[in-house]
Amino acid sequence: MIQVAKIIVDVPTMQTNSPYSYLIPKQLTNELQVGMRVVVPFGNGNRKVQGFVVQIGMEEVDADQLKSIESLMDLEPVLNTELIQLSRWLADTTFSFQITCLLTMLPNVMRAKYSKQLKIVDDQMSEEQLADILPSTQWQDFETDTLSPLQQSELSKLRKQGKIEIVYRVKNQAQTKQIFQIKSHINAEQESGIVDSLRKNATKMRDLVHFLANQSKIVSQTTLEKKLAISSATIKAGEAKGWLVRKKVEQYRDPYKEFKGKTTPLTLNQEQQTALDEISQSIEKSQAKTFLLEGVTGSGKTEVYLQTIAYALAKGKTAIMLVPEIALTPQMVTRVKGRFGKQVAVLHSGLSDGEKFDEWRRIKRHEAQVVVGARSAIFAPIENVGVIIIDEEHETSYKQDDAPRYHARNVAQWRSKFYNCPLVLGSATPSLESRARSERQVYQLLRLPNRINGHPLPKVQIIDMREELQTGADQNFSQPLLNAIDKRLNMQQQSILMLNRRGYSSFIMCRDCGFVLKCPNCDISLTLHMDSRSMKCHYCGHEEPIPKQCPNCHSRKIRYYGTGTEKVEQELKTKFPSARILRMDVDTTRRKGAHERILRQFGERRADILLGTQMIAKGLDFPNVTLVGVLNADTALELPDFRSSERTFQLLTQVSGRAGRADKLGEVFVQTFNPDHYAIQLAKTQNYENFFRKEMYIRHQGKYPPYYFTLQITAANKEEKMAAQKMFAVLKELRPQLSADAIVLGPTPKPIARVKNKYYYQIVIKYKHEPNLHTAVTKILQESQSYYRQGIQLSIDAEPQSFM
Ligand code: ADP
Ligand code: ZN
Ligand code: ZN
Repeated sequence: MIQVAKIIVDVPTMQTNSPYSYLIPKQLTNELQVGMRVVVPFGNGNRKVQGFVVQIGMEEVDADQLKSIESLMDLEPVLNTELIQLSRWLADTTFSFQITCLLTMLPNVMRAKYSKQLKIVDDQMSEEQLADILPSTQWQDFETDTLSPLQQSELSKLRKQGKIEIVYRVKNQAQTKQIFQIKSHINAEQESGIVDSLRKNATKMRDLVHFLANQSKIVSQTTLEKKLAISSATIKAGEAKGWLVRKKVEQYRDPYKEFKGKTTPLTLNQEQQTALDEISQSIEKSQAKTFLLEGVTGSGKTEVYLQTIAYALAKGKTAIMLVPEIALTPQMVTRVKGRFGKQVAVLHSGLSDGEKFDEWRRIKRHEAQVVVGARSAIFAPIENVGVIIIDEEHETSYKQDDAPRYHARNVAQWRSKFYNCPLVLGSATPSLESRARSERQVYQLLRLPNRINGHPLPKVQIIDMREELQTGADQNFSQPLLNAIDKRLNMQQQSILMLNRRGYSSFIMCRDCGFVLKCPNCDISLTLHMDSRSMKCHYCGHEEPIPKQCPNCHSRKIRYYGTGTEKVEQELKTKFPSARILRMDVDTTRRKGAHERILRQFGERRADILLGTQMIAKGLDFPNVTLVGVLNADTALELPDFRSSERTFQLLTQVSGRAGRADKLGEVFVQTFNPDHYAIQLAKTQNYENFFRKEMYIRHQGKYPPYYFTLQITAANKEEKMAAQKMFAVLKELRPQLSADAIVLGPTPKPIARVKNKYYYQIVIKYKHEPNLHTAVTKILQESQSYYRQGIQLSIDAEPQSFM
């Protein structure tokens, strides 16, 4: 029996989910821990690769048979044992490789190349002592894996003793931020003596002495400079005289530093209180229970979340709260920060890698007790979790498109079981899957059927655009909607207008021959962008000039079709020259902080109309908004996807919910070419329960989720034939493993069959109970490695959220 480390290695074309055993060098036996990254030799050539230590234990093997760990990449674990365990489950259930899962859990900068800096943090430790281990010339920039095991072991010991610290530095990226802190070395009794020794006109020095003599707390140099209106020279002079010491410390980059607006808990209404009581009881009893909080828009779900989190904190526990694409819902972050202040760490794509890394470390060091973030925040290295909340649980952004194709809801459930804590799923329009589970008592349903303070839901009117167009109205605005906007402008109330697209015009078409300009790499038409005066592909980024004549028949009658936010904005400006309009879409929000800026402006009533894409549909709470207009309700309905009705209903309900949230009554206009479609008709009354029953019936008829599970397998290749053949081969292998009840769709080309010059073929399996399926699909995943080398990419998606 010898001690070995089990390691998951990072070799893209040779992946496997079984770890390899490696010997642990003698000097590292005490230092190596599960969750560290290491460098190990791999394969015949003993190429050096990165690996994660997932287990350390005794094994019955011959030491000569094993290779040895080369070096450590970290001096402390980057993942704890919970997350390592989670990665194993994640790989298994999402049919992905464990290495991909492990990497997904780390912040970007840990995946990227970074170097490290050594810092002495203990006064007892001398520079010479450290230089004995590592020459001081290397302290600024060293790679752990270039050190000898002995050096690694010595440094690791010092770190454990709290004598040194390792600061990570991302190459070519922002470094950790350093500031000076100042500690006073004089007291009140010394003040007059020192002042007497100063020149009469040394007023600044006198101010400094006065401050220091009465200040025992540490302050930052910049604060002091501002407060006393003194220069850094004065402070340095004070340091020379021994009145103070200056110390360089690392400061976290805090994207919410400027944050103000502390809030206090509101008195809950009866329904909110009942919901809170049920969830708190579960926290109290350490139950891994899932609640579905179904509350209409404006029913006060957020307040329930906040008080639930407060309850968990009061019990000495922590909380995770997920929000969809947080950059789009900055109001939510504001509300959580407002309640819990510095205890909150925020993780989302709007932050720089450096900021994210700092927040991640604050969580890991137990300096934050509440994590708010988008999908991947579900992997936050937070411990002792008391409650997990997923707001707008129906949102598709909770499912990752790339491997590992996980759904944050499932990961949350796993962690809820691990910590024996409740999981709260909140939505005005729960996903059918979740609502169906609450029907079967798998989840406990909590309902908030009324808006706060009895505010009525807004009145929704459906406008038949087929009729409107016949009366000669223009493409984008019906007369009733125009009247409603005009009325709001007169009353100084605000309007939100939603358009389901972006760009200036969707596509261009030749009026003589019907030619549509398509992307040369993808099966998709190019979109006209007026800002860059070009045609762009939204899938691969291909860009080309706007054609002046038809490339097919050379006619000059080439016209713009469809519509976009930019075009609508111009139309609005012509129709309402005095209106102040804000546009929010992918193009106006590319810059960091742009979302927040636009929403702040709108919130401060510095604009009358907020025009935007889907990104304005969610979570906004502006009391002065009394009108919501949906310019084109149909775009989602046209998609070849069994969830298109659900998506349409959700979107319309969400966006309608932005109107009339305070004491002013709200009104909603939905323009559509399908006024009789049930998703649109039911959105009119915002009757989720009726929609749920109707849609469940349709899913049952069509044998779709939540009645059936779905699994999608896709093959991609430059040659259409190869992709198709591979899918037929996969099906041939799977078919004998499936029962007669399983339904297989395909192989067929995907609805968008070609993207970035690759062809996509898929099969979709619908099933209820297939005991052999998991093993068979896992085998296909393993085999996919061999054709990956031939350029065939195979992807497996359990419960795909989109079939495009
Ligand atoms: P939801 O998330 O369900 O759409 P919100 O949490 O945004 O609803 O609540 C809508 C509004 O009602 C917010 O402005 C919120 O501050 C307010 N609110 C929530 N709970 C209460 C309460 N118990 N008393 C008074 N106002 C409340
Ligand atoms: Zn393209
Ligand atoms: Zn033409």
